[in-house]
Amino acid sequence: MQIIDGKAIALEIKMELAQEVKQLLEHGQAVPHLAAVIVGSDGASLTYMESIKRNCKEVGYIASVYQFPANVQEAELLAALDFLNQDDEIDGYIIQLPLPKHISLEKVVEHVDYNKDMDCFHPFNTGKLMLGQDAFFPATPYGTIELIKRAGIEIAGKHCVMVGRSNIVGKPLAMLLARNHPDANATVTVCHSKTANLQEICRQADILLVAIGKPEMITADYVKQGATVIDIGIHRIEDPDSEKGYRICGDVKYDEVAKKCAAITPVPGGVGPMTMSCLLLNVMKACKSTRN
Ligand code: NDP
Repeated sequence: MQIIDGKAIALEIKMELAQEVKQLLEHGQAVPHLAAVIVGSDGASLTYMESIKRNCKEVGYIASVYQFPANVQEAELLAALDFLNQDDEIDGYIIQLPLPKHISLEKVVEHVDYNKDMDCFHPFNTGKLMLGQDAFFPATPYGTIELIKRAGIEIAGKHCVMVGRSNIVGKPLAMLLARNHPDANATVTVCHSKTANLQEICRQADILLVAIGKPEMITADYVKQGATVIDIGIHRIEDPDSEKGYRICGDVKYDEVAKKCAAITPVPGGVGPMTMSCLLLNVMKACKSTRN
């Protein structure tokens, strides 16, 4: 049984990017610059911002964080996006979600210059993804595909069952898996909360991908012997037996599912670290296409 080491593969990508940055500097070219917009001071979001800054520094990128109070007016936020859109020294930016209720997510997403849309939330980039054209890919689905590929697991011709159809994970990942592309070419079934016979469908999967946001819901009963299981979920759940009083788990009940699989991603250390590395890949792509 193969435990897919997302941490090692994510590090491999970052080392490749650091090498590319070195080459850009040697040629006197601009290094990638990622900006991040955060509204409010949610602890998890602030931790993510710190992680962005740390990861950018590790590969030699510039990182800028723009933090706004939770009561920022929509117009002020849109004006800040105008500034980011126009600043030639910023290659791309992300907007940390969720936004406060008084701000329209749709308006904000459509205000982003799609050339700088590192989240790939803009309808233009979503459309390009749907058309199978070259685009920025949303970081978590991109990371998932890259993880499977770099772990040496063939996707082409496989039956992939995607459990979850959110706009940021399930839907784009299903599209990426089904693309007519050597890294993809899967036959994809998409499941969601209204799917009948979920267990039965999951048991047909050669590659089962789970992004449902329900801790350890996917048990061994959902998995075919010898399948590959990719767990995108991430949760902190109470655990009185652990020193910290909690533990991190995914949407898959790892211990029992692992016994049935040919390959599985752990949580933490599976898809999670890939999200950051693939965000950095998007920023390199933006930098090369517009500034170098
Ligand atoms: P959402 O809550 O936006 O979507 C969940 C999806 O799962 C929905 O499509 C929902 O169906 C479906 N679902 C919910 N319950 C069931 C069920 N019982 N049976 C079948 N389908 C179900 O979540 P996200 O996509 O944003 O995130 C999913 C998980 O991935 C979370 O644990 C999140 O923390 C994690 N995540 C991890 C990232 C990483 O970097 N590793 C990044 C982003 C997310 P319906 O559409 O019918 O409501």
